Amino acid sequence: MFADRMKRIAPSGTTATGDLVSKLRSEGIDIISFALGEPDFDTPKHIIEAAYMALNAGYTHYTPTDGLPELREAIAAKSNRENNIPCHTENVMVTPTKFGLFTSIVALVNHGDEVILSDPAFVSYFQVIDFVDGRLVPVKTSQENDFRLLPENVAEAITPKTKAILLNTPCNPTGAVATKEDLKGIADLACDHDLLVLSDEIYEKIIYDGEHHSIASFDNMFDRTITVNGFSKAYAMTGWRLGWMVAQENILREVRKIQQHSITCAVSFGQKAAVEALTGTQKPVEKMVAEFKSRRDLIVHKINTIPGLSCNMPQGAFYAFAKFEYDMSSIDFAKYLLEEAHVAVTPGASFGSCGEGHVRFSYATSRQNIIDGLDKVKEAVEKL
Ligand code: PMP
Repeated sequence: MFADRMKRIAPSGTTATGDLVSKLRSEGIDIISFALGEPDFDTPKHIIEAAYMALNAGYTHYTPTDGLPELREAIAAKSNRENNIPCHTENVMVTPTKFGLFTSIVALVNHGDEVILSDPAFVSYFQVIDFVDGRLVPVKTSQENDFRLLPENVAEAITPKTKAILLNTPCNPTGAVATKEDLKGIADLACDHDLLVLSDEIYEKIIYDGEHHSIASFDNMFDRTITVNGFSKAYAMTGWRLGWMVAQENILREVRKIQQHSITCAVSFGQKAAVEALTGTQKPVEKMVAEFKSRRDLIVHKINTIPGLSCNMPQGAFYAFAKFEYDMSSIDFAKYLLEEAHVAVTPGASFGSCGEGHVRFSYATSRQNIIDGLDKVKEAVEKL
């Protein structure tokens, strides 16, 4: 009954954990979940107010495919100001973030084209590249080097079939933040080998140490880079399904066709609120990031006091990627923690083969949950 291409795509491992947690909770079991991939904060009030106003003002129709002009202008201004990307309004397309990744990959990756990416990496990259029959070329990153994607390792992975390098900084699931030097090295490789770069910068604001750099800001890189970003994480707007991509117009011309024939445009009143998110007060973002930082310090400390578990200090995003030294797969270890400790984590293998031997803790949850949950994990692993 199903098309062959469906054999090349698997359900999301992270969503599956979430579904299992919901099921157990509905059975009355009290679960502390570290599986959440979204801020546990509500969208700031001034952004919600802007959406109400937009609805009342009649923003209930389609918008242009590329998005409302005022939002595209605000995104272009932000990209120049904060990211040093030399773009104009014409270089911006408003699209749900994950959909922007999907359409970019569909538009650019041919059967057999190789795409280099870090391993571990965000689950959906692997699936979408497989879906379009591209070839994944994972480059190992590890706790020993703070999960940095090193230019020398990227260089080794380049072949005549390499089409693109996919970057994600700060990184889900490791929290690694690419240094300026590493990005410069990767940018040089992209220029020397005439490669495209797809740069997923959705966690750019959730950064504690170091600085965010956009690879599109490096010399000659804007011509070959698609920068994907969005409102979900920085403004706690996951349910709004809003993000953007910044790229050369010839790239957007192709991606636009997919958007036109699929979702038409992003949500209209949400786009008005998104203008407010970018141009209004940034205080709620600062407050949320400060809270995430305290939680990061707390969770990493707690993890490192548990026998057989270790974690480096992630510099961004809201995930701690912990290594475990028990003789079982990450799926079995996560299952054990769920059954024994009633604590949900995401198996590292969901993020690529180098994620095996790890589990991901999302600390988008209260400090009390972090304290109680990690105490339960400690008790459970002491029984192993
Ligand atoms: N990229 C990464 C690395 C992510 O972790 C996520 C969300 N989990 C997304 C993209 C998707 O963002 P959105 O919900 O805005 O589509």
